[in-house]
Amino acid sequence: MSLKTVFLSICIVLLCADSFSQVTSESDSIVDKKYLLMHLQTLSSDAFEGRKTGAKGGVKTRKYIINQFYNLGLKPLNETYEQPFFFVHQRNEYKAANILGWIEGTEKPDSFIVISAHYDHEGIKKGIIYNGADDNASGVSALFSFAEYFKKHPPKHSVILAAFDGEEFGLKGSKYFVNNSIVPLNKIKLNINLDMISRSANNELFVVGTRYNAFLKQLIVNFKPSGNFKLTAGHDGADQQENWTYASDHTSFYKKNIPFLYFGVEDHEDYHMPSDDFENINPEFYVQAVKTIISVFSRIDTSFVH
Ligand SMILES: [Zn+2]
Repeated sequence: MSLKTVFLSICIVLLCADSFSQVTSESDSIVDKKYLLMHLQTLSSDAFEGRKTGAKGGVKTRKYIINQFYNLGLKPLNETYEQPFFFVHQRNEYKAANILGWIEGTEKPDSFIVISAHYDHEGIKKGIIYNGADDNASGVSALFSFAEYFKKHPPKHSVILAAFDGEEFGLKGSKYFVNNSIVPLNKIKLNINLDMISRSANNELFVVGTRYNAFLKQLIVNFKPSGNFKLTAGHDGADQQENWTYASDHTSFYKKNIPFLYFGVEDHEDYHMPSDDFENINPEFYVQAVKTIISVFSRIDTSFVH
């Protein structure tokens, strides 16, 4: 990072800090924006080396997530928070690990909702770090906001917060999770998957999966986000847009007939580029997105039919 970049980064952070204050009153009750952005900035910093599965940066990310889960009072789903596994890709063997924490539901402890986000990204290629701020430090940091929210608003269903590994190699972590589930699969009622939720030129967050579930469809149709934030159902094969049913970790749940909602944005010019950096996310959109997803969760949690 050059001096000029450092200077620009500081300016952007200061500018962002100013614009954050404008959304304070609206979002503070659900999302602590400073905390949310601090995690995103940290996980997408050069120190995490692009979070490649099994590499130094990937292992460092695991430790960071475990620390957060522990500090937020989540219980480990396994004996520890880690669900280790390995896979072979192009003759290379990768040691991977999902990080899984959970909180017991107050009313339906035997029914589980899995809220997931993959923490791995592209790592370092030809000496260049792919920081993956939107993809998917944004989703992982949102998991921490969920855990923070649960401290004041305990969920009625049991909730598993799953930070999956190996997504960039073909959804490896979520596949391993559903094929070696620590909780019986028939007790998992829903997957809410977060992958790329921190920027949108149109102020539009997509929600995929309502096509396959009438209850979720009705719930999203009736959901009205605040301000000019758009939550649009689609990208699930029933419209003219690209079908995202198989685009990220929710696919692994879909294939096991578990309902899912996937939240994400359109691909952007920094998608899978070294420029997917903290400086290029949209903090206001991101805070609104996380707030919206938590609100959708909350409605599902109070009314989900089994
Ligand atoms: Zn992703």
